[in-house]
Amino acid sequence: MAGKSNVKIHIKTEWCKGCVICVEYCPTDVLAMRNGKAYVKDITKCTACELCEIRCPDFAITVLYDKSEK
Ligand code: SF4
Ligand code: SF4
Repeated sequence: MAGKSNVKIHIKTEWCKGCVICVEYCPTDVLAMRNGKAYVKDITKCTACELCEIRCPDFAITVLYDKSEK
C-alpha cells in the first residue's frame, strides 16, 4: 500500500520511554529509534494505520491525517 500524502506523525519525545514497540508494530518501517527515542524515519511510507498510536503504552504518538481522504 502506498503511503498517505497528508499524514503526519507527532511524537511527544518527553513521554517516550524508548520501548521500541511502535517501531516493531509499524508495518511499513516508518519509525526508528535515535538516542533512545522514537522518531519518524520515512513519513512517505506511512499508511496512517494508527497502529503506532494504538500500541504506544505511553500515549506518545499521535497520527494526524485528513480522514475525508481515506
Ligand atoms: S500510522 Fe501505521 S504506518 Fe504510520 S507510522 Fe504508525 S504504524 Fe507506521
Ligand atoms: S511505543 Fe511509545 S514509548 Fe515506545 S518507543 Fe514508541 S513512542 Fe516511545
